[in-house]
Amino acid sequence: MKTDLPPLAPSSLGLTAEECGQAARTRLYTYAQKLARIEAALARMEKGCYGFCLTCEGRIGLLRLEADPAEAICETCDAGDESVR
Ligand SMILES: [Zn+2]
Repeated sequence: MKTDLPPLAPSSLGLTAEECGQAARTRLYTYAQKLARIEAALARMEKGCYGFCLTCEGRIGLLRLEADPAEAICETCDAGDESVR
């Protein structure tokens, strides 16, 4: 059984330090994006406009909000214009 495993897993995955740094940055960016969406949803709750589409100001469907509580765009606008996201 191999016991001399390197402290950093990426080398065993064939990733260079550069790629590992890139992956970490990408993950961090994704977390920051998620956090920003949640904070924006909380701000909309405080303003009393949570659950309304940012584009057309129509109601966002309950099922859609259940799937993603931080959703800010209704199904119609989401299907019609991908650049809104
Ligand atoms: Zn809409």
